[in-house]
Amino acid sequence: MEDRLRSIEDEALEAVAKAQDREAIEQIKVRFLGRKGLLTNILKGLGSLPKEERPKVGKHANQVKVKIEHAIKERLKSIKRQAGPRLIKGFDPTLPGRALPLGHLHPITQVLDEVCSVFERLGFSAAKGPEIELDFYNFEALNIPPDHPARDMQDTFYVDEKVLLRTHTSPIQVRTMEVMKPPIRIIAPGKVYRCDSDITHTPMFHQVEGLMVDRDVSFAHLKGILTHFAQEIFHRDTSVRFRPSFFPFTEPSAEIDIQCVICRGDGCRVCSQTGWLEVLGAGLVHPQVLRNVNIDPEEYSGFAFGLGIERIAMLKYGINDIRLFFDNDLRFLNQF
Ligand SMILES: [Zn+2]
Repeated sequence: MEDRLRSIEDEALEAVAKAQDREAIEQIKVRFLGRKGLLTNILKGLGSLPKEERPKVGKHANQVKVKIEHAIKERLKSIKRQAGPRLIKGFDPTLPGRALPLGHLHPITQVLDEVCSVFERLGFSAAKGPEIELDFYNFEALNIPPDHPARDMQDTFYVDEKVLLRTHTSPIQVRTMEVMKPPIRIIAPGKVYRCDSDITHTPMFHQVEGLMVDRDVSFAHLKGILTHFAQEIFHRDTSVRFRPSFFPFTEPSAEIDIQCVICRGDGCRVCSQTGWLEVLGAGLVHPQVLRNVNIDPEEYSGFAFGLGIERIAMLKYGINDIRLFFDNDLRFLNQF
């Protein structure tokens, strides 16, 4: 019996040493240590041995078992080391992984954030207001009474006679001035709605408006801040031009052009050969608008400005059709 055990041990250890993969090891396990394995049979057969031999053979058999198990364990380790990455068929874990597609902010959101951050660095804070607005805040408080021709400047979506989708974010300025006393420095970013649709207009677009009210605020402040803004968003040496204009809620009013970003002022199709692009509307807050929210125009003055984010984004990225922003075609969006 002792010889038998020795030969099992030799046979098993040799087989383990020769085994090249896990499968071979499994077969060895079954052959020697399995339920009907060679060693198991001997252990099972201990009972039929003469009494005095049992402990000795039993002990030896257990030693052989431990040796084989240990050899198997060591062999598995080295198989694992050798096989390394090729352990799993057809899959090499050392290859770099495939990058998962990562989304990013919509170009409009990016430009909106950028515009807001320029003003936030100048001490303006962002204010919010409802998109479904009362006629009073959208028009009347801004010096646009019901029969005012300026209402025709904006094609309004009405919910009912007194309720509408805001046509600009100016109502936020009114709402802010109602609850806040000067000094006021806010920007009002958000969605606005007008019944208009072509390659430069969509029924919904994004505006950022700004408002500063304090003692001795003048047109010079407005000029300085908007020039700084244009140079931050477009180009360090972008020229800015102020043209007299009209808005019911500002007096005096101006439209602000920047030097064409495409031709740098030489004249091209985008700027209709003028060398200038209109990007902003602005002016000093009309005294009546201040009176409407109980701010004394004799004591305080202010300026307001407004710009369309889509327009800025189109000029910044050279996009010729505003509708591209809302088609959500990934081939377009992935470029940003
Ligand atoms: Zn141009």
